[in-house]
Amino acid sequence: MEHIFDVSGGPGGKAFLLVGKDKSALMDCGMAYCAADLIDNIKQILGSRELNYILISHSHYDHIGAIPYLRREWPGVRVLGAEYAQRILNRPSALKTIRELSTQAALLFDGPELPPYDDAALKVDVIIKDGDELDLGGVHMEVIKTGGHTQCSLSFLINNDTLFASESTGYMSESGVVYPSFIISCADAIESIRICRNLHPRSIISPHYGLVREADTADYWGNCLLAIRKTQKFILDSAAQSYDEAWIIREYERLFRDDDSRREQPTQAFRLNAQNMINNLLRESSGDKWRLNSG
Ligand SMILES: [Zn+2]
Repeated sequence: MEHIFDVSGGPGGKAFLLVGKDKSALMDCGMAYCAADLIDNIKQILGSRELNYILISHSHYDHIGAIPYLRREWPGVRVLGAEYAQRILNRPSALKTIRELSTQAALLFDGPELPPYDDAALKVDVIIKDGDELDLGGVHMEVIKTGGHTQCSLSFLINNDTLFASESTGYMSESGVVYPSFIISCADAIESIRICRNLHPRSIISPHYGLVREADTADYWGNCLLAIRKTQKFILDSAAQSYDEAWIIREYERLFRDDDSRREQPTQAFRLNAQNMINNLLRESSGDKWRLNSG
């Protein structure tokens, strides 16, 4: 683990720096409002060396918000992500949502006001896909497609030993509880857990948490699966009892949102994710039969 550093600039989004003999790469970069602290943390490790790559696990604001500020600091840096992430970041509506959520996060976390940035800087320069490999000089990375959270979700296997798991598999909160995070497909998220588990990584980096403690590593994938099953059951049972979408979202928030989640995620982002997750699960589970009227 001597080549992996947690350089996160603040709560809500994590960033991990990989340092090889020749190149360096950041895995995710966290939220926009903490870019200054993130850059300081990276510089403490890299010194005068360049940051060469930013690998994004997916295109959500809390994983990529700091990209424009990193480009200003290291103009040669290349952003690597899935083809679908590249497409999303070309959409003005997505860039608008990212800006809104980034601004709200700055308020929630009492951070500084968002320094100005150019939307055009939020883009993927190089497309990466399942099986692609990257050599940083003594540090080897492999890209693993792990859908379920978004269509562009990727995990990164480092030196065949440590897995930076995408949010599709879930994530651990500060208190050690594992949360599900299957927004677009529950089935894909379960498949992603199977893929990750079969890689048998010795160490796991949970996307919003960091390095999972050794004592929790053996049970990690099982806990991810349990978290999904519990949420899935609640949503399907509620729909079977004919509760409408608004009720399910409200109840879901009441039952599943705890202090950790309130600390780490703005309400609008939580509700947006919950709404998409519930709608997509119902559609996926029973076709149009369960599709709810969201109007
Ligand atoms: Zn996300």
